[in-house]
Amino acid sequence: MGKSEKVLQLCRENDIRMIDFKMVDLDGRFRHITIPVERFGERIFEYGIGFDGSNYGYAPIEKSDMVFIPDPDSAVMDPFVEIPTLSMTGDVCVIGEKENRPFDQYPRNVALRAADYMKATGTADQMLIGPEFEFYLFDTVNYQVSPNGSFYEADTRQAEWNTGTAEGGLGYQVKHKGGYHIAAPQDISYNLRSKMCMLMEDWGIRVKYHHHEVGGPGQLEIEVELGEMVDMADKTMITKYIVKNAAAKEGHTATFMPKPVYQEAGSGMHVHMLLFKEGRPVFYDKDGYSSLSQTAHYFIGGLLKHAPSLCAWTNPSTNSYKRLVPGFEAPVTIGYATSNRSAVIRIPAYAKAPEDKRFELRSPDATANPYYAYAAILMAGLDGIENRIDPSANGWGPYDYNLYELSSEQQAKIQSLPKTLEEALDALERDHDYLTKNGVFPERLIQIWLERKRKESRTISQIPHPAEFGAYYDL
Ligand code: GLN
Ligand code: MG
Ligand code: MG
Ligand code: MG
Repeated sequence: MGKSEKVLQLCRENDIRMIDFKMVDLDGRFRHITIPVERFGERIFEYGIGFDGSNYGYAPIEKSDMVFIPDPDSAVMDPFVEIPTLSMTGDVCVIGEKENRPFDQYPRNVALRAADYMKATGTADQMLIGPEFEFYLFDTVNYQVSPNGSFYEADTRQAEWNTGTAEGGLGYQVKHKGGYHIAAPQDISYNLRSKMCMLMEDWGIRVKYHHHEVGGPGQLEIEVELGEMVDMADKTMITKYIVKNAAAKEGHTATFMPKPVYQEAGSGMHVHMLLFKEGRPVFYDKDGYSSLSQTAHYFIGGLLKHAPSLCAWTNPSTNSYKRLVPGFEAPVTIGYATSNRSAVIRIPAYAKAPEDKRFELRSPDATANPYYAYAAILMAGLDGIENRIDPSANGWGPYDYNLYELSSEQQAKIQSLPKTLEEALDALERDHDYLTKNGVFPERLIQIWLERKRKESRTISQIPHPAEFGAYYDL
């Protein structure tokens, strides 16, 4: 049976009229192009669909022709379109003289190469990861982007909810920073969250649980069961697509922006991780600190050593650094500990079974391109294993106290995470040999990323900020 046959069978069973190809751009957004089902056939798998790579951030205009080749195993009904539509993801290729070659900067290919590199080192044959998705739900009616791109209307809407004019009623408001696991009737998006999770299950994403988050009102969280790294990057894209579209269907807007509201909790995308070799958990040792093996400690050492440059992938927006401030359960310093939510690496005390033994990196947020972010995390950890980077020997903990409340003496000894996007980009420029091993991250991709993100950061810093009017207008 040809590749197209399986897909066409699905089309017949579901009266499909359109086939939608979804690709990921450099920043980690979905882009798509749609064909009538009548145009679909075996040729697509050989020759693909041509597109202009320059608009994706991938190629200079003078060399912008690229080709998308769908993956037949990714075919699934898109629940958000009225016209019966089958959705597919796949690979992006550059066009060669004779044949097309997988594009080495395409995010999914970077992640695949990182997984191959892990296998080649002999350390492990599988990396399982579990991201946690935090996001805010705002009301579309009150959401407006001002001409210069700021998001101040969110505050207006919050004020309305807090005075009880919105659904939920006076007396049942979610208090400032008081939303964690809050029950109905305050939890007014409970149904919508359940719907999102059902759509995720239908798409093949196993949901662990969902709940209201600390930010009040409207900060929500969905956690998924752990899965293989590249597959989980695909599922990260789909989860964000489902959350945003399910919200839009009901007149809301969901945002994964790390810090949409001043002085409220920010939204992170913590990443849990563990390695397996021949079915055995590599991170477990009943006699180690917090039952973690020496290999797990080295992996942590790699993450902490490269934490500043890693932020250029895991926290790649200017807004990311408005989240990484003390007081909101987001990390600010470089260190690890059990149960400590002020540390950048937390070892969950409840994950006790050998096959569950893991830790979470708390710095990432969902402005990351998940493929680059997960690949960079893996490469940093593997570098720690190769170079036997011990976190406690380097003074990175374990810290079993609140890292937000440090004496100046303690402060002097503990390294901080980058405080701005530029700091993270400078760190990436200095420290990226751990990423380019075996060509996992092409050197050119790193240069493009630095240039693009520096430009983004410079532009944003040149825009007069609404808060500057408060501070300086009358001077
Ligand atoms: N919202 C917090 C962050 O920014 C995490 C809070 C939590 O999950 N308990 O990382
Ligand atoms: Mg969580
Ligand atoms: Mg959370
Ligand atoms: Mg967490």
